[in-house]
Amino acid sequence: MRYDTPVRVVPRWWRDASVIGLWAIPMFVIALWVSNGGLAQFTSAADGFTSLGRLTGLVASALLLIQVFLMARVPWIEKAWGQDELTRLHRVVGFTSFTLLLGHVVLTVIGYASAQPHLFWSTIVDLTLNYPGMLLGIAGFGALCMVVVTSFRVARRRLRYESWHLIHLYAYLGAGLALPHQLWTGQDFLDSPVSTVFWWTLYAVCLAAVVVFRLGLPLWRSTREPIRVLDVRAEGPDATTVTVGGPGVRHLRAQGGQFFQWRFLDGPGWTRAHPYSLSAAPTSSTLRFTAARVGDGTDALGALRPGTRVLVEGPYGRMHPGTRTNQRVLLVGAGIGITPMRALLESLPQAPGDVMIINRVRSDTDAILAHEIDCLAHELGAQHHVLVGGRIHGRASWLPETAAAWDDAQALLGICPDVSHRDVYVCGPPTWVHAFSKAAGRAGVPAANIHVELFEL
Ligand SMILES: Cc1cc2nc3c(=O)[nH]c(=O)nc-3n(C[C@H](O)[C@H](O)[C@H](O)COP(=O)(O)OP(=O)(O)OC[C@H]3O[C@@H](n4cnc5c(N)ncnc54)[C@H](O)[C@@H]3O)c2cc1C
Repeated sequence: MRYDTPVRVVPRWWRDASVIGLWAIPMFVIALWVSNGGLAQFTSAADGFTSLGRLTGLVASALLLIQVFLMARVPWIEKAWGQDELTRLHRVVGFTSFTLLLGHVVLTVIGYASAQPHLFWSTIVDLTLNYPGMLLGIAGFGALCMVVVTSFRVARRRLRYESWHLIHLYAYLGAGLALPHQLWTGQDFLDSPVSTVFWWTLYAVCLAAVVVFRLGLPLWRSTREPIRVLDVRAEGPDATTVTVGGPGVRHLRAQGGQFFQWRFLDGPGWTRAHPYSLSAAPTSSTLRFTAARVGDGTDALGALRPGTRVLVEGPYGRMHPGTRTNQRVLLVGAGIGITPMRALLESLPQAPGDVMIINRVRSDTDAILAHEIDCLAHELGAQHHVLVGGRIHGRASWLPETAAAWDDAQALLGICPDVSHRDVYVCGPPTWVHAFSKAAGRAGVPAANIHVELFEL
């Protein structure tokens, strides 16, 4: 039975409100620092450095907490931004927070040391050993250094995803260890009742968001009515389709095009969640995804047995029918990125001719779910194009090499002349998605009508 979830879209102003909140918190921290005498301390160079050190530390802490909150999977934030944009924002806020934290360390040391230049080293030792919470603060700083170093793209590429993710969780430790340091040594924390209430609230909200939305909600959703594997099917040698089901599915309110984080309780690998998008419209009792075999986790899917318990987190993602603004829609997927497009094709309310789907593949054998898409398109009166061929060398393009003579935007207009009056949903590898989005923009599609999901966080 098809399950027509009432489409719930958060209003656009939620996003604007969260941007205002994002800026308001550091601004408020600066205002507290001023009102607690931060500026008045600029009476000597040493005090000036110390005061600036305090400011950078405070703003760094606020940003650290903001980014914990951003990744806590709070439904309203998630729906307003989508996870890939949130991840990008989290990255920017994270690096800014860390830079300020470095500034905090350097400025504080300079401030204390320049008060007694001849006692530089003993001042540092004194700061480290005798100030309450300082050792914990340094341990927290070390944990954050590890997170940041492994988040640089070069380092990230060399690490297994699981190792990177595990190290990344040390950010929670860093934020937690900073608290006693702030509490015991940070005079701004306790200077005024407003400061105290503000900081405790910020810590409490972040902790509650993580406990409720990141841990509690998924656990509750997955355990109150068990979800189990129903069927596992090979899609040729390189991909697997898994269907799961159970009464618990109806509470998830998923929509075609969204994704979940999946864990299969079939052995030690269950601790690692993997994100997969739905590859069919969800029903009241089933969900289905299709995954390309690229490593341990996706290889193991083929060996899943019906009956295996499944834990899910989600649904996530903004690429669903609720974000549509036009009656006509273009769905474009590259490689395995076609799978959420297949779910969207099935989920979108449509009249014949409203939907066009473009499948960009390297070869005919890579066209996963092509037969299903063909049948669905035929049934719904949608147009289905498969663009086959390798990449064009020397140019970032969404087209196959056989179309190298074409301009990217002109080719898109050739295939879909009214593209500028359509919502465009795109999914695939990041560079390809970027090239396609650029072409769509040049073909006249407003940026707000391009809905993207990247299969990479
Ligand atoms: C929002 C989203 C939706 C996705 N939907 C699909 C889908 O429908 N079908 C599909 O085939 N693939 C999808 N992917 C990609 C898929 O999650 C990875 O290919 C898969 O997790 C690889 O795991 P592995 O153990 O087999 O490979 P590994 O060898 O462990 O990893 C291969 C690469 O996959 C990425 N990866 C691994 N684990 C994760 C993880 N837990 N989270 C994010 N990235 C990871 C890493 O970049 C890694 O370099 C999606 C990814 C994202 C972010």
